[in-house]
Amino acid sequence: MIKNFLRKYGYYMVAIALIFAVGITAGTSGKKTQTSLVIDQTEQTNTSPVEMMCPLSSAEVIKWYSDTELFYNSTLKQWESHRAVDLASSVSNDVYAVLDGTVTDCSYSYEDGYCVTLSHGDGLFTTYCSLTNTDNIKKGQRVKRGQKIGEASTSASNESGEGAHLHFAIKLNGAFVDPSNYLTFGNK
Ligand SMILES: [Zn+2]
Repeated sequence: MIKNFLRKYGYYMVAIALIFAVGITAGTSGKKTQTSLVIDQTEQTNTSPVEMMCPLSSAEVIKWYSDTELFYNSTLKQWESHRAVDLASSVSNDVYAVLDGTVTDCSYSYEDGYCVTLSHGDGLFTTYCSLTNTDNIKKGQRVKRGQKIGEASTSASNESGEGAHLHFAIKLNGAFVDPSNYLTFGNK
């Protein structure tokens, strides 16, 4: 009975077994590829200098970075590039250091308002402008990632038409870079 069954269906059973085997092999090798991809990403993250946190909670970008395309500045009524992102939050205006760093500059200008610049090593700097004030920040001070360094406001008169916001810039080896290379924002 079984012999007959095997004689009749054996070929099909072997074929099915083979299909399963191929399927499992393909599945495993697929998984292997995925795993190695994940490892590659981790290695990249480790070698890249940063894992920044967002400088504002629930930040929305109200003006993107641009070094070529011109944006209309409704406050100054002129077209200009914008080597930073302007961030606003409906949750909190608290501004946080995106990484551990050292305060290298603490300044006020009519155009940019109150600004703080942090150095993070390896030629990486972050600048936070349009702050309420810089009273609690001193040049040379060490700050921790996530430490509050100020509050977003309208102190940058060249962007005051945007309302309370943070003008956030990143410089790498002396050149401005697009912050969205380092951070993912709520509306992207
Ligand atoms: Zn801006």
